[in-house]
Amino acid sequence: MYKTKAYAAGSATSPLASTTITRRDPTEHDVQIEILFCGICHSDLHQVRNQWSNVMPTVYPIVPGHEIVGRVTKVGSAVTKYKSGDLAAVGCMVDSDGTCPQCKAGVEQFCPNMTLTFNSPDKHLGGVTYGGYSDSIVVDERFVLRVPSNLELAGAGPLLCAGVTTYSPMRHWGVTKGKKVGVVGLGGLGHMGVKFAHTFGAHVVVFTTSPNKKEDALRLGADEVVVSRNGDEMKKHAGSFDFILDAVSADHDINTYINLLGRDGNITLVGAPEKPFAVAAFSLLFGRRSLSGSLIGGIPETQEMLDFCGAHNITADVEVIPIQKVNEAYERMLKADVKYRFSVDMASLKSE
Ligand code: NAP
Ligand code: ZN
Repeated sequence: MYKTKAYAAGSATSPLASTTITRRDPTEHDVQIEILFCGICHSDLHQVRNQWSNVMPTVYPIVPGHEIVGRVTKVGSAVTKYKSGDLAAVGCMVDSDGTCPQCKAGVEQFCPNMTLTFNSPDKHLGGVTYGGYSDSIVVDERFVLRVPSNLELAGAGPLLCAGVTTYSPMRHWGVTKGKKVGVVGLGGLGHMGVKFAHTFGAHVVVFTTSPNKKEDALRLGADEVVVSRNGDEMKKHAGSFDFILDAVSADHDINTYINLLGRDGNITLVGAPEKPFAVAAFSLLFGRRSLSGSLIGGIPETQEMLDFCGAHNITADVEVIPIQKVNEAYERMLKADVKYRFSVDMASLKSE
């Protein structure tokens, strides 16, 4: 075991602060990575503040972070895919049983024994796993991903969660040329959703509560932008969408969006607000519409997404910050004031 620097929260009401954590020495199948950048996901904030206590209560101290890119510093004797010096990435998962039908199908995110990158029981050291707001991490090579060399690293981190979480449902629901696609909430996930839907050739409409994001939405690849608090603008799109991705982090009326779907249209929730929704049955009945959810993406699809981003030169639009600004970044995220992902330059942790 060895010690490494990290930022952790000690309770649901304390700010994140500098600390030291213990990591395992790499076993034969492990890759040790020096973390260069880690994106800040709204899920980090939900869990630091224990907002998902019904589903996955937070164990403190919590070290969040699951949008990790860095450089390999050491590999175990049985590791074949990585060597010291390689660029590498880690997303939301660090382990799974590898034997269940979900793992065999390459959708490890649905494995009943999957280990999340943080706040999940740690099979090696006991306690819980610690995430990417840290100097280094040790991960089984099956959960390490390859970063295309042309991608700018600070913007590549967020692909590991915001990227795959939006790429996966769009692939699953057949977002292609000729489809009308909505993206609700232009935050970290939403802005990646816009980039993917646009690159897949769809007609993209962004729904935002922030009128000041209109120009950015168009620049990111939207064909139209609707300020969702404007009822008349919303009505113009009634019954017209093939697919809508809902990436909102807070309470909102989902029925408004269900009513924008056409026949057999689907709305997929990726946003995970703290409180349950009310869904009006009739908005689904008319038009045989469907409402579904989607959770990150499996390892093969995450690699496929990274390679797709390499081929199309897609990264997140990031504001790079030092780790010392993480608490301020959380407050800004709550005000929808992120353009469009914070990426922590982990070199800043060295001065702690
Ligand atoms: P984010 O960057 O904070 O973006 C959320 C966006 O939602 C905001 O920028 C804002 O966009 C909109 N919004 C915020 N409050 C709103 C309100 N009260 N009413 C309507 N719109 C509101 O968050 P994120 O990191 O993209 O994450 C979004 C959600 O997805 C979070 O709940 C997160 O936990 C979840 N998530 C799920 C998965 C998964 O696997 N399913 C993976 C990662 C994250 P506008 O300014 O454009 O309105
Ligand atoms: Zn995330």
